[in-house]
Amino acid sequence: MTKKINIGGVVIGGGYPIAIQSMTNTKTSDIDRTVLQIQNLALAGCHIARMAVTDQKDAQSIKTIKQKVKMPLVADIQFDYRLAIASIENGIDKIRINPGNIGNKEKVKAIIDSAKAHKVPIRVGVNSGSIEKELLREYGRTAQALAQSALKSVSLLESFGFYDIVVSVKSSEVKTMIDACRIINKSCQYPQHLGVTEAGLFESAIIKSAIGIGSLLIDNIGDTIRVSVTGDPVDEIKAAKLILRYSGKDKNFVEIVSCPTCARCNVDLYNLATQAQERLSHIAKPVKIAIMGCAVNGPGEAKGADFGITGGNGKGLIFEKGKLIKTVNENDLIDELVKKVEEFAQNL
Ligand code: SF4
Repeated sequence: MTKKINIGGVVIGGGYPIAIQSMTNTKTSDIDRTVLQIQNLALAGCHIARMAVTDQKDAQSIKTIKQKVKMPLVADIQFDYRLAIASIENGIDKIRINPGNIGNKEKVKAIIDSAKAHKVPIRVGVNSGSIEKELLREYGRTAQALAQSALKSVSLLESFGFYDIVVSVKSSEVKTMIDACRIINKSCQYPQHLGVTEAGLFESAIIKSAIGIGSLLIDNIGDTIRVSVTGDPVDEIKAAKLILRYSGKDKNFVEIVSCPTCARCNVDLYNLATQAQERLSHIAKPVKIAIMGCAVNGPGEAKGADFGITGGNGKGLIFEKGKLIKTVNENDLIDELVKKVEEFAQNL
């Protein structure tokens, strides 16, 4: 079990639910646009938002942004330790640094002293592009080098008596990221922030992240996740929620299982599945619906679902736990299904 870390009221690690993170892409000192983006992220289901702090104006803006949003905020600092300290003093809930980029131990210690005084956790975030030269010489650009770079930074923070740590090892190579996270998991108890970095446009990003983040979550590795998408950060949240669902970390939703259709299909299955998904998306309970294209194979294949529907020749069949419970007009199939599922979900 990983250590519990409290980020402005959202606890990660220690078996707490996996928190979804994203990052704003507005200029942080453009307070109105940054606040709007954080509010949109909150509506989409984001739990923690990170903002790049690139100058003192950004750092000073944190105070006002904090007053306007409820979500815990993280300051992403690249090189300048003074920006980390200014962010902490302006009320940030966590900072993300790569101690290897900060310069020297004294500067890292100055950040630690401030973080300790304000009880602000630190994410040690190492990317495969920022591994120290000596580690690259020893291990090459490998998962081992990435993990050792992060562990070295963790030891540095610990040497100053600081343990309020989250770790991330990110790479744009999915396998490197997976292997590095596994090494971190075996080597320390700190919670991990998972992500495939620079994962690209939406489709590539969700596939890479589903493989990278999803395979780790399935093995119970990871405490908070960020899906990196080139585009609107709200898309990151949509993808993150799907990854949590299908890696078994979020069971409270209506799962639609629908067949790919074949020559036996007698209904407009795409339309049925789309309507069912839209009309049942408000139910936050673990319900499984099978939507099958034919009455021959469909019911058998859908036995594991709570409800199943199929149709053909103007008729619609509704199954509950594999047993036929109702035959309706095909046009009424979705209305009837929604009614049944809503009743069922109320009693869960
Ligand atoms: S359920 Fe029926 S229509 Fe769908 S793929 Fe299987 S056999 Fe084909």
